Parts: sequence; structure tokens; C-alpha cells
Amino acid sequence: MKFKKAKASVFFCHIHLAMGWCSKDQVIIDLKTNTNPIRTYLHELLHLEHPTWSETRILKAERRIWKKMTHEEIFLLGKRLFSRKFERWEDDIG
Ligand SMILES: [Zn+2]
Repeated sequence: MKFKKAKASVFFCHIHLAMGWCSKDQVIIDLKTNTNPIRTYLHELLHLEHPTWSETRILKAERRIWKKMTHEEIFLLGKRLFSRKFERWEDDIG
């Protein structure tokens, strides 16, 4: 599974009533309320890859891809998520 937008900047902060958020080439993930930040990262990458898709379509794709992913693929996606300098978003969202 390849994501062209996987180079997006990732920030971490609290997001009210959501686990992740993205815009253009930025992804924000709430690590405190989130039990599966790697899956949330996958979800947000899908939004970046397919900006015109509805939330329902993204959720369906996320479920389908996550189900098929091997432990190694999940590990590598997690490595991609966390192999970066920690950057906190300036404000909490929402
Ligand atoms: Zn979404």
C-alpha cells in the first residue's frame, strides 16, 4: 500500500470529538483519546489521497484496508507515523 501524501506534516494535539483531522498536507492526531493512532493515521492519509471522497467512503476503505493489513504493514505504517520530530499543533482543536 503506497500513499503519495505520506510525507504530510503530522502534528499532535487534543481534538474535540474526533481522533484525527487533516487538511491539504497536514495531519493532526489526538494521541490521548485515541486507542489506535496508526489506524487514524491511515484514515487521514486516505482523506489526503482522495480529497473528494465522502466520510462514508473513506471509512469503508479504511475498514477494508485495515482488515487486509499484515502486522508488518501496520508496524511499518506506525514507524512512518512516529519516525519524525514531535510537533504539537499550536492550539487544541474544537
Ligand atoms: Zn474522516
